[in-house]
Amino acid sequence: MASDERTVLVTGASRGIGKACALALAEPGTFVAVNYRSRQGEAEEVLRAVEKNGARGMLLPCDVADPQAIAEALAALVRQTGRLDVLVNNAGVTADQLSMRMSDQDWIRVLQTNLTGAFYCTRAALRPMLRQRSGRIIMMSSIVGVHGNAGQANYAAAKAGLIGLAKSVALEVASRGITANVVAPGFIETEMTGAMSPEARQAMLSRVPMGRPGTAGEVAALVSFLAGRDSGYITGQVFIIDGGLTT
Ligand code: NAP
Repeated sequence: MASDERTVLVTGASRGIGKACALALAEPGTFVAVNYRSRQGEAEEVLRAVEKNGARGMLLPCDVADPQAIAEALAALVRQTGRLDVLVNNAGVTADQLSMRMSDQDWIRVLQTNLTGAFYCTRAALRPMLRQRSGRIIMMSSIVGVHGNAGQANYAAAKAGLIGLAKSVALEVASRGITANVVAPGFIETEMTGAMSPEARQAMLSRVPMGRPGTAGEVAALVSFLAGRDSGYITGQVFIIDGGLTT
């Protein structure tokens, strides 16, 4: 069934930056699909908050690294709303280790979720977007994908890969009203960074000129702009949001 509602899919929206993006994009006239992999209770809370903002929505549980599950989830979403306007490829994991000690499993899992998962979602999203001749695709990369980071070769490779993916897709679909851009955050206060040791956290913060971590809401505000109607002439770009760490 086709609808006039602007349809948004945020992957990894049960917490952290994905949750903030889902909430920032949730406004009357919008349908927000909340993807997650395991934390159903938290995803349900996000959906309730989405509805409180005046939007409609649905839970879309699946592992972004599973191509069959993604194809089915996207099909279910488009059956529900008849369209897809915004895809935020946010789902991500870490499995840090120095390269010489990194297991095949940790390399593959991080690449599979952070990069291949984004590709599966993008491929599935392009069909309805091409039909509509409009769409916004946003990749949640990291400054680590731009600069590299000792102990995060898998994560950095995946996040750098998202930049190549976005730039290529941007060129493929620019003439069809679809944009693809990258957001590359620095140190943002979420559960992912909460797992850092106090020493690692302090070392990281001491390098941030603003002297504080960013918030998920600050990243979501940038995503919201790139997902909005006023960003139609911006594509294939990387937007760093890191409190001045990269200058
Ligand atoms: P987070 O708090 O750990 O949340 C990760 C989210 O991804 C959760 O909703 C999780 O869902 C979901 N997820 C993980 N694997 C998934 C899979 N295979 N399929 C579907 N969903 C999956 O992380 P965050 O800090 O908000 O980070 C969000 C994104 O921003 C990530 O891509 C991360 O790399 C990137 N980023 C974060 C920072 C930072 O400082 N925090 C900096 C730069 C970039 P479940 O809870 O259901 O497992």
